[in-house]
Amino acid sequence: MFSRIPFEKVNWLISSFLIGTLFLAVTAAPLYLWRFGLDSFQVVLFFVMFFACGFSITIGYHRLFSHRTFEAHWIVRLFTLVFGAAAFENSVLLWACEHRSHHKHVDHEDDPYCISKGLFHAHIGWLLFKLDPPPPFDNVADLKKDPLVMWQHRHIHWIGAIVSFLLPALIGFLWGGWISALGAFLIAGVVRIVVLQHCTFCINSLCHYLGDRPYSSKCSARDSWIMAIVTLGEGYHNFHHEFQYDYRNGVKPWQFDPTKWAIWTLSKLSLAGKLRRVPEEKIVLAELAEAQRRLETRLKGGALTEAASATLARARNRLRAVEEQWTEKRRAQLEWTREKMAMLRNETRAAIRPLRGLGLHESPGT
Ligand SMILES: [Zn+2]
Ligand SMILES: [Zn+2]
Repeated sequence: MFSRIPFEKVNWLISSFLIGTLFLAVTAAPLYLWRFGLDSFQVVLFFVMFFACGFSITIGYHRLFSHRTFEAHWIVRLFTLVFGAAAFENSVLLWACEHRSHHKHVDHEDDPYCISKGLFHAHIGWLLFKLDPPPPFDNVADLKKDPLVMWQHRHIHWIGAIVSFLLPALIGFLWGGWISALGAFLIAGVVRIVVLQHCTFCINSLCHYLGDRPYSSKCSARDSWIMAIVTLGEGYHNFHHEFQYDYRNGVKPWQFDPTKWAIWTLSKLSLAGKLRRVPEEKIVLAELAEAQRRLETRLKGGALTEAASATLARARNRLRAVEEQWTEKRRAQLEWTREKMAMLRNETRAAIRPLRGLGLHESPGT
């Protein structure tokens, strides 16, 4: 069995961490629970750390930094960078760089966690055997300009170790001495890292494997409510791959997407803004086009009457016409808005012109 493993290709640093934490989670943590039992403090701390780090990945690493689906106050950016580091999924600069490559090359050779290479590769194999030189970071120029992102990138392992292990242990010590500190280190630290990492890994593996493709069958990404529960809402992955700049993954109001709800709540608290949404009509058109594509594939080999073929062709043409009309309408709306803006700008200029002589024509704020 072991002779089949290409040891010369193993990334020993990443592999030791992933296997070491898993080993501790299934040996030391149960031993601790057997010897000292589980109290509510440990359970609460586990979930606080799990959600702080988990949402830092989904809100921060993914929807904010990788896709720019909204803008965030520096407090949100700092929080997600600090607790995201504690998820031990590397710096946001590297994470976003690889994730943007995933979207660009999905299902092809340059996709870092390409599902075409198998479920194991997409889940964890790509990390265990990641010997490639570090990427040139040529698709994250925007993030390189962010001093907070670069600070996290420089100190990623220190921040991760302090927030992930020292912080829970210290809280545990203050709560109940050395035994509580050990429990917090193992449960809110080690076990939480393992559980959260595999939840994230599921986005790369099972979210490209289980579920439906209501928006596009052009790539392997799928929508699944079960995966949405496991991944804090990232399970609506087919929608996400089709419309990656929307801050929502579960776009329907009833779909379980706590990350979307958290971003919306942050916006109400003035901690986030400019939430990007794909126009409703565009989403409906994508669903219709996909439904039609599926119908045509299903009918392909079957004997289709002439009348049925004609009806299908008519439906296809009508859909195309609706798409064209919608694009035309959007363009007209944009032009109308641009014209109104130009008019307003001219009116404002005309209004402040008389003030020039008084030296009061500078923009407000100067
Ligand atoms: Zn994404
Ligand atoms: Zn994906």
